Amino acid sequence: MSGDSMDWENLEPDKYNIVKKHFTKGRGGRKIRHVTLHHMAMIGDVDKCVAVWNDRPASAHYCIDQYGKIGQAVNDWDTAWSNANLRSNQESITIEHSNSGGANQDWPISEATREAGAHLVAAICRYYKLGRPESGKTVRFHSIESGGSTGCPWHLRPGHKYHDSYIARAQWWYDQMGKKAAPKPAPKPAPKPQPKGDTTMTDFDQINRRYKSRVPGSKVTMTPLDMVRNTDAHAFLILQKIERLEQKIDQLTEGK
Ligand SMILES: [Zn+2]
Repeated sequence: MSGDSMDWENLEPDKYNIVKKHFTKGRGGRKIRHVTLHHMAMIGDVDKCVAVWNDRPASAHYCIDQYGKIGQAVNDWDTAWSNANLRSNQESITIEHSNSGGANQDWPISEATREAGAHLVAAICRYYKLGRPESGKTVRFHSIESGGSTGCPWHLRPGHKYHDSYIARAQWWYDQMGKKAAPKPAPKPAPKPQPKGDTTMTDFDQINRRYKSRVPGSKVTMTPLDMVRNTDAHAFLILQKIERLEQKIDQLTEGK
């Protein structure tokens, strides 16, 4: 159901049944620019479409059955005979949607088929970088592409009952696929375990390593800790001198 074995990112369909004739190899040097929507005017799947196209000079790239299962009948890089318009055929990927009822029911299309179609439109727009699905631009219609020679894709045409919701779903799927494709933000680095107790020592160790520098005019490299120790040694000597001087002063004053 609903194209659940479809690989949307890579446009790998649920199944293949490539037509043997009634399509053209390559795209006449043209680029894929849009998707064109059709309805089958029958209840069917890719096998049923291919059986029809073996007898009739017509074809399409994808066929979606009434349960949303997607089959491929013409490879994306080849030109399907769908739109009754050579240039349009060469620049389009065409999708056939199965009906879920006949003419007596005015050609309904099931929700599963429409949902799979909208998802497929989004996947094609992503894969070929066509931009967001937009009616009349990236998403086109057989009736318009053929210059009005057909009513296909019937209720999917602009101004008809499935059109707006179909385009909205295609845009929704397109946005969802964009979120999925967006690069994930880098994970926050885990905080480094701090040794229990004397965290100032850890900070000091870091500073000590970072600001290690050469003593001017010598080849000796000293860390701030070395310098502090050095200063301590000087201070110790000075204190000793002061102490000795104090002792002398004491001796002199006592002797008075
Ligand atoms: Zn059509």
